[in-house]
This record gives sequence, C-alpha cells and structure tokens, in this order.
Amino acid sequence: MSIVKIKKLTKEYHNGKIFVKALKNITLDIKKGEFSVIAGPSGSGKTTLLNIIGAMDKLTTGEIIIDGENISNLSKKEAADFRRRKIGFIFQSYNLIPVLTAYENIELALDLVGGYTKKEKDMLIEEILDQVGILNLKNRKPLEMSGGQQQRVAIARALVKKPAIILADEPTANLDTDTGESILDVMEKLNKELNTTFIFSSHDIMIIERARRIIKLRDGILQN
Ligand code: ADP
Ligand code: ADP
Repeated sequence: MSIVKIKKLTKEYHNGKIFVKALKNITLDIKKGEFSVIAGPSGSGKTTLLNIIGAMDKLTTGEIIIDGENISNLSKKEAADFRRRKIGFIFQSYNLIPVLTAYENIELALDLVGGYTKKEKDMLIEEILDQVGILNLKNRKPLEMSGGQQQRVAIARALVKKPAIILADEPTANLDTDTGESILDVMEKLNKELNTTFIFSSHDIMIIERARRIIKLRDGILQN
C-alpha cells in the first residue's frame, strides 16, 4: 500500500522579482513501512519536498495523497489538523523547548493531540524513552544533554503519538559521524519494530547509504 502518492507535482516560489522552480514534475510513490532518504545537494529541493509531504507548505500544481487523504489543497486549519493526526517531524536543530525536561517535551506532543489520561501519557512516554535508549535522562533539560541525546528526545517526541509518517529534515546534520550513525540506528530500529514509515533528507553519503530506498533530487528534478 502506498502511504505517499505524488503525481506531477511542481513547486514554485515567488519572492518579489525572484522566481524559483524548486520542484519540477515529481511523480513518486512511497510504501507504508519504507525507510527512505531524499538525497541531493544543497538547494536541490529536499526540504521543500518534505515540507509539502508534511503539509507545512503548499504545492503549486499536481496532486499529493498521504495515507488516503488528498492534501493538495488544504486550508491552514485543515493542514494543521492533518499534521497533528498523521505526521511526526524531526529537525536538524532538534527544536526542543529549553525550559522543559525530556519528559515534558514529549508530553507536550501528546497534549497537542489530546484525549490521554495522565496515566496513559506516563506509560507511552516511558515506553518511547526506553525505545530510544534515554529513559535515564527523562528529567534532563535540552541544554543538559548532548546533541545526540537531544535528537533522541526529538525522535521520541515525533513518535509518541504513533504517526503514520515520520519526516526528518537532515536529522544528523549537526552531529559527528558516530553520533549520526547511532541516530540512524535508532530510527532503523523503530522503523522495524513499529512499521512506521520514515522519510528523511540528507546530503551525507554515509547516511544516505543506510536507507533502503534512495530518492535522488537534483535541481528539483527526480533522478533515476
Ligand atoms: P534543499 O533542502 O535541498 O537544500 P530547498 O528545498 O531548501 O533545498 O530549496 C530548493 C530551492 O528552492 C532552492 O533554490 C532554494 O533557494 C529555493 N527556496 C526554498 N525555500 C524558498 C522560499 N521560501 N522562497 C524562495 N525560494 C526558496
Ligand atoms: P536546507 O539546506 O537544510 O534546506 P536552507 O538554509 O537552504 O536549509 O533553508 C532553510 C529554509 O529557508 C528553507 O526550508 C526555506 O523555507 C527557506 N529558504 C531557503 N532558500 C530560500 C530563499 N532563496 N528565499 C527564501 N527562503 C529560503
């Protein structure tokens, strides 16, 4: 089953006099449970494509269906609702809230979805912290953790609500090689255990080679 179906998608940016064709005629299917990387040099359209898949940005022409929902033309409110239900995001700069502990950062993701009792939240958060290997750090704040540890919190936060898809924009860009590899290990393990679809972007060959599927972009064009 395809969880991502993209047909003849283009994306153009207009900023005053500047006009950029960021994505050109992209047709692409990604199956449920795939572990794929969007690879390409800086400026090739990786972030733009991830943002469109996650309903963070709008396409210009074409069609995109995610987990059976056509998201080609959502209102701002519908897009926010779609993201909350279906998508977990991981960023290169982790984007954790500095005044909250690891536990509280993850709890916030569940509170945004709503409907969980304190007891349910406690169980889900402890479980996911254990799965990413940092249960012992649950009361630490971001600045009391290393970059790799912070990224594990961010992965836990993205996964705790059990989204259909995890989108990760250059998740290892700010990490040294060994730590980057260990973050890939965690994502790979969770992909296998939970069958969650992972789509991440990278321009680092070491990271790209770890994916089971490589989606190559160059100048906004899909390469075969
Ligand atoms: P990558 O993630 O591969 O580095 P991006 O998706 O960020 O590539 O960018 C693709 C192209 O679109 C680049 O030429 C970039 O400058 C341009 N671009 C991205 N976002 C915007 C924007 N908000 N306004 C104008 N141009 C943009
Ligand atoms: P990356 O290479 O990781 O995509 P960038 O620094 O190229 O990071 O871009 C970060 C964000 O800045 C993009 O997602 C896009 O929204 C915005 N951006 C990129 N290029 C441009 C541009 N030429 N004009 C305006 N915004 C841009």
